[in-house]
Amino acid sequence: MASVSLRQVRKSYDSLPVVHGVDLEVADQEFVVLVGPSGCGKSTLLRMIAGLEDITDGEIAIGERVVNQIDPKDRDVAMVFQDYALYPHLTVFQNIAFSLQYRGVDKAEIARRVAEAAAILDIEPLLQRKPRQLSGGQRQRVAMGRAIVREPEVFLFDEPLSNLDAKLRVQMRTEIKKLRDRVRTTAIYVTHDQIEAMTLADRIVLMNNGRVEQIGTPEDVYETPATLFVAGFVGASAMNLVPGRIEADGPHCMLVLGPDARLALPPERFAGMTGRTVTAGLRPEHLQWQEQAVGGGLSGAAQVVEPLGSDTLVVFDIAGHEMQARLPPRVVRRPGDAVRVGIAPQSIHLFDPESQRRI
Ligand code: ADP
Ligand code: MG
Repeated sequence: MASVSLRQVRKSYDSLPVVHGVDLEVADQEFVVLVGPSGCGKSTLLRMIAGLEDITDGEIAIGERVVNQIDPKDRDVAMVFQDYALYPHLTVFQNIAFSLQYRGVDKAEIARRVAEAAAILDIEPLLQRKPRQLSGGQRQRVAMGRAIVREPEVFLFDEPLSNLDAKLRVQMRTEIKKLRDRVRTTAIYVTHDQIEAMTLADRIVLMNNGRVEQIGTPEDVYETPATLFVAGFVGASAMNLVPGRIEADGPHCMLVLGPDARLALPPERFAGMTGRTVTAGLRPEHLQWQEQAVGGGLSGAAQVVEPLGSDTLVVFDIAGHEMQARLPPRVVRRPGDAVRVGIAPQSIHLFDPESQRRI
C-alpha cells in the first residue's frame, strides 16, 4: 500500500514541453482518474509514474521513496495497457503467472496467487485456454489478473477499456468498480471518457494541454467546475455555454442572455457585479420545463427534438445561440414547437470569458 506524490512534474520531448508542471497527491488506497482529451498528456504522466518515460523535471514519490532514478521493475507498480499485450503462445494461467515466475516466486505461491486472481476476476474456467480463444472482455480480465497477482503498491491503468465495444465497456466498468472493493490498492486510471471517470473515481484529475484544470471528486467537478474547459467536458450532455451580462433589476440580480432571455441569479453571490460580461453555463438537465409562459425564463422554438423515452433532448435557439434542454417526455414533440424553460438560480454557472475561470 502506498501514496503517490507528483511535485511539479514536467516532460518535454526534445525541446517540446507536453506536461507543464503537475502537482498531485494520491492517497493510499485512493482511486484517481486522469481524464482529458486525446493528446493532453495523460499517458505520458502515467508512464513517468511507471518509470517507462524519463521525468524532465520535478519529482515523483511512491510512498516515502522518490522514484525518479528507480528502475520500472523496482517501483512496485503494475500497469494495465489498452492493448492487453498477452503472450499468444502461453495459456491464461501462464500469462498471469509469467511475472511471478520471472521473479522466481515458488510454485505453490504462484498457484495460490493465480487461483485467487482468477476467482476475483471470474475467469477460473479459462485458465488453460490461449488468448486467441478468448473474447475481448475475457482478455481484458486476464490483463487485470496479470497485474493483480503482482500484489503491487500501485495499479496504473492506461485506457484499459477503450478496445472494447460500447456494451462491454459499460460491463467492464462495473467489474472494475467491484474489483476495487475486493482489491483495495492505490490506483491511477487514465481515460478520455468522462463518464468512465465520473463513475470510477474517488477523485478526478482533469487535464488539458499538459496542465491540470481541476482536481476534485466527481460531485465537485460536476457541481463547481473551476474553468470553462471543465464545464464543457464534464456532464453526459454538454453544458450550454452562452455569452451574457449581469444586470440589476431593482433588488434583483439578473443574467441577461438576450432581449427576452433573462434569468434570476442568486443576489448574494453576484450583487456587486452589475454590468459584467460573462459566459453563462446552463446544464441541459437543469433547464426546467414551464407549462405556461411566466415572467422570466427562456423561450424559443424547437429546432431538433430527440425523444429518448425517459426524457426528450431538445435543441432550441436563444438570442442566436443553440441551447440544449433535457425535458420530460412529450412536452415538446416536433421542430417548431414552443420551448419554455426556467432554471433554479443556484444551478447557473458563470465564468469570466477572459480568464476562463469560474466567477
Ligand atoms: P494522451 O495519453 O493524453 O492522449 P500523450 O501523453 O500520449 O497524450 O501525449 C501527449 C503529447 O505528447 C502529445 O502531443 C503527443 O503527440 C506527445 N508525445 C507523446 N509521446 C511522444 C514521443 N515519444 N515523442 C514525441 N512526442 C510525444
Ligand atoms: Mg494516451
